[in-house]
Amino acid sequence: AINEAAVTFLSRSSNEGFARTTAACFAAQLDPTLDEVNDIKTAVSEAVTNCIVHAYPDTLGRISMKLRLFEDNSLEIVVKDWGVGIADVEQARTPLFTTGSEERSGMGFTIMESFMDTLKVRSVPERGTTVTMRR
Ligand code: ATP
Ligand code: MG
Repeated sequence: AINEAAVTFLSRSSNEGFARTTAACFAAQLDPTLDEVNDIKTAVSEAVTNCIVHAYPDTLGRISMKLRLFEDNSLEIVVKDWGVGIADVEQARTPLFTTGSEERSGMGFTIMESFMDTLKVRSVPERGTTVTMRR
């Protein structure tokens, strides 16, 4: 990578905005269009919200976000938690699949996939989840 940055923060809902803005600030060095920044913010928002809502359902836990910029102007964002993990990642990535309540639509991973070029999800139950996105 030609540049990188990392932040860690607690799974408070107010930090969803913190992560979104931080990613947008890091991406600014790419001189992105408004549409491009908004795509990145939306993807980060979905990934971090998942950590807040699903990884740590009734505790406050730690979330890390790593940002990397490569020579070819591609951006990699890694969002990691040490929460409950996902038993079946393939099922979790299916559009409309949710283990959440009424207000969840089960579209988070689908949104990340469509707003970014690639999405990798690694998860170990009881250990945590790592989401890697690139565009
Ligand atoms: P929406 O994002 O539309 O509000 P959702 O969060 O349920 O709904 P996705 O973001 O696609 O939908 O996630 C699908 C499912 O994967 C979740 O319901 C949850 O079971 C699981 N999941 C996603 N991220 C995590 C995570 N970081 N830790 C534990 N489980 C997760
Ligand atoms: Mg979600």
